Amino acid sequence: MTDINKLRNKIDEITIEMIKLLKTRTDIVKEIGEIKKNIGKCVTDEERECTLRKNVLHLCRELDFDKSIASKFLNFLLNESTKVQSNNKHTHLSVFLEAKTLEAKGAKIIHMEVGEPDFSPPLIVKEGLKEVFDKGFLKYGQTKGIPQFREKLAKYISDNFNSDTTTENVIINPGARFSVFSAITTLLDPGDEMITIEPGWPAYKDCALNAGIKTRTIKTKLEENWEPSIEQIENSISSNTKMLVLNYPNNPTGKILPETIQDKIMELVIENNMYILSDEIYSQYAFKNWKSVLSYNYEKSIVTQSFSKSHAMTGFRIGYAIAQSEIIEKMARLQALCLTNVSEPMQYVAMKALEADTTNNVKTIQRRLESLAKYGRELKLDFLIPDGAMYIFVKLDHEGVDGTQLAKDLLGRGLAVAPGEGFGDYRNFIRLSACQDEKTLKEGMNILSSVLRGEK
Ligand code: PMP
Repeated sequence: MTDINKLRNKIDEITIEMIKLLKTRTDIVKEIGEIKKNIGKCVTDEERECTLRKNVLHLCRELDFDKSIASKFLNFLLNESTKVQSNNKHTHLSVFLEAKTLEAKGAKIIHMEVGEPDFSPPLIVKEGLKEVFDKGFLKYGQTKGIPQFREKLAKYISDNFNSDTTTENVIINPGARFSVFSAITTLLDPGDEMITIEPGWPAYKDCALNAGIKTRTIKTKLEENWEPSIEQIENSISSNTKMLVLNYPNNPTGKILPETIQDKIMELVIENNMYILSDEIYSQYAFKNWKSVLSYNYEKSIVTQSFSKSHAMTGFRIGYAIAQSEIIEKMARLQALCLTNVSEPMQYVAMKALEADTTNNVKTIQRRLESLAKYGRELKLDFLIPDGAMYIFVKLDHEGVDGTQLAKDLLGRGLAVAPGEGFGDYRNFIRLSACQDEKTLKEGMNILSSVLRGEK
């Protein structure tokens, strides 16, 4: 046999051996997944992952092997474990879908699980819907969006967010969910790492997992006012870390970071030449000082925005991203591939919506949040008074109460809430959304009160 064939045979043997080991590893991962499910333990365990990561890096030094390749391989394995164990997670979406099924069977459900304002979009939207046919926005359009709409948004952003934004810095997406997916998928590669702060909206982690990107989670605590430690972030940065995700005002906690902490995070991001993805879709619902990431003028920033919450236009699916034109070009390539362009009639209507005064929406949500917080305090629930967004994230100190089980019990009594496990390792929490009128919120809180008191 020639030398090359001998070597190739050796490679084949090693690969087959690796697949066998992978099978054994996956079986054990499944077994652990079952145990975690039974004892209500979160899928990812940052501490264990961190220890394993250190051991792998130590081994690389001993073997004189490239630590970047080894870390990427480790990230692949860790992500596979997460995928195998992530079935059956209860999130605000799964509760929403269950609630819809019950409603179809005639049940009356109070929706405090979703972040969807119950009020209508601005009236001008109705006019827009009527006139769009005659305006001729009916065909395929440009990938990045209607130029006139992008130009108006650029001006709106420059005026409101202390930034110098031009049309080339804006791409219209079908909802901020797609902006987030598009930023993560186009800017990062499999094996790269991304840092998220939890509790958080689950899509950041899910998008990363879907694209083979490893998430490093910074867990924050109610007792520490949901503030991340800079040291913890610093310790999570490796040579593979390419992005950090922020979401303030935050879903689900309502937190806005103190400016000094945000400044320090930005310093770290810039020092390490990372992307910063700042999901600012609740910026309009900021009830105390809040600063857009755009105001740092950092070239690797991507800010996501949406008409869903600010203009109560969830069903129109219009969101957008703001970034340097090179980043926008990359995101546009994915958008062209996936959807050609965002529906032009909907873009036209959203462009009209920009003319509306939405301050009443803000006042309504703020008033409802205040009521929700008042009811929450009356029930002696533990939570942070929100600085913004549309939710309170409540800790359940009641003996033996688990957020996921509680959400199930509440749904049976006609109240839908979001279980804490959907936002990270927070099974003893639930999220309550302030998107209903005050009378309905009070009714919902009465159901919560009676279930917590164990009444049948
Ligand atoms: N980001 C956050 C933090 C959200 O809570 C949501 C929706 N709940 C979105 C993005 C998605 O918004 P859109 O409807 O624009 O896709």
